Amino acid sequence: MEDKLKKLKKIVGDAFELQRIAAVLDWDQQVGMPVAAAAGRARQTSLIVSLAHEKRTSAELGELLQVLVTEMENLDPDSDDYCLIKLVAREYERHTKVPAEYVAEFSHLTSLAHSKWESALAGSDFLIFKDSLEKIFRMCREYTDFFAPYEHVYDPLLDEFEPGMKTAELIAVFDKIRPQQVELIREIMARPVPDQSCLRHEFAAGRQWQLSTAAAAAIGYDFSRGRLDSVVHPFTTTFNLNDVRITSSVHTGNLNSLSSTIHEAGHAIYEQNISPRLENTPLATGVSLGMHESQSRLWENIIGRSYHFLRFFYPQIQDAFPELKTVPLDEFYRAYNTVKPGFIRIHADEATYNLHIMLRFELEVAMLEGSLAVADLPEAWNAKMKEYFGIIPPDDALGCLQDVHWSAGLIGYFPTYALGNLIAAQLWKVCREKYGSLDKAIACGRFDELRVWLSENIHCHGSKFESPELLRRITGGGIDPEIYMKYLRGKYSEIYGL
Ligand code: ZN
Repeated sequence: MEDKLKKLKKIVGDAFELQRIAAVLDWDQQVGMPVAAAAGRARQTSLIVSLAHEKRTSAELGELLQVLVTEMENLDPDSDDYCLIKLVAREYERHTKVPAEYVAEFSHLTSLAHSKWESALAGSDFLIFKDSLEKIFRMCREYTDFFAPYEHVYDPLLDEFEPGMKTAELIAVFDKIRPQQVELIREIMARPVPDQSCLRHEFAAGRQWQLSTAAAAAIGYDFSRGRLDSVVHPFTTTFNLNDVRITSSVHTGNLNSLSSTIHEAGHAIYEQNISPRLENTPLATGVSLGMHESQSRLWENIIGRSYHFLRFFYPQIQDAFPELKTVPLDEFYRAYNTVKPGFIRIHADEATYNLHIMLRFELEVAMLEGSLAVADLPEAWNAKMKEYFGIIPPDDALGCLQDVHWSAGLIGYFPTYALGNLIAAQLWKVCREKYGSLDKAIACGRFDELRVWLSENIHCHGSKFESPELLRRITGGGIDPEIYMKYLRGKYSEIYGL
């Protein structure tokens, strides 16, 4: 077994490193590559990606797995080796069930769809994108056939982004929070709008950059094992556990770069604290998109937008922007947490965010099942916007065309954002109960207790345990939407006097 395990580790370790090399190419492309280099870079990236795919689907790996999967029963289920074999077997099955021709055709379709979507968005004309989107949903339906039988047609798609999570559970969770969030927003809208004039300034880019850097360092992002660069669409990427990079973008008309940098630092702190023991194996990365978002959103929203955090950090914001010196903390806090139903998901506040996700999830499921024709998407989108937010987008650019995900074939991805919010609230509750004075520590700028607790309970495990299992180990149960709703209602009751 030793010998076979060694061979398996070599194959999947190499595939994993190739994927990280592709990440370096991608980071470079987004951070500073000359535009003219795009075609050459696409060739290089696709070569690396196909080499990694060959390794992951090789017959040799299949033969090794056949033996190791039967022998793994002798290992401790919590051991690194057991978890590695389990993960590799699962991924191997997923990769080999889908024919190479399908993968090539889908990749071709989505690269064409992306440029159609760009033109459709620019001209706010859904018809330009309609045919591509129809094909994408048709091919996604075909994809689910490779994994039949399943309980729900959405399961095989969701499983790619949130392994172990079932659609039935997602539907049950969303059914619980949907009416409560709609009601919360209705109550908030009936209250006076907080004075937001303090946020209507020009905030110099250089100073925002300094603040973002200071905030990321304060919460524990290790700059000696990473760096922060400027991009159009912020992201985090891992080259190895000692090189986890974050990116941000600054607009002088608002202070959004601060929360967006804290968000990315949250992702990066997860990756930087994975056990070095797991390095060079597929376990050396965050376990799922939902768990990853729980980390970024915990730091961005539950901490970064909290009154306690601002007690610590607002003086630094005031030093950077002296025009805020006359604005009391309470006023800034309320302005910083104003709720306003809007058309665009990525600009949504905490109270409305999940509704944007539920809307997309419901429409995805309907188009996949065939109960909604893709041609009728704009109408269905607007009807749901009216139902959940009480507003109707004036055009499709502010409606069903706003996100890049569907054009990239990412069906099943959106729910992970909402799962991140729910899991974050659950983790926060457990940690807060353990350390009674956590709020006080945060108000003093001490984040070690929270960060170390997250590292010991989540980060260090990398991808050893699927996200539902990890959550069960920490909280004793599964996703509990009531904890999130209690957090949300508590926060906004105080701000809006509900
Ligand atoms: Zn994120």
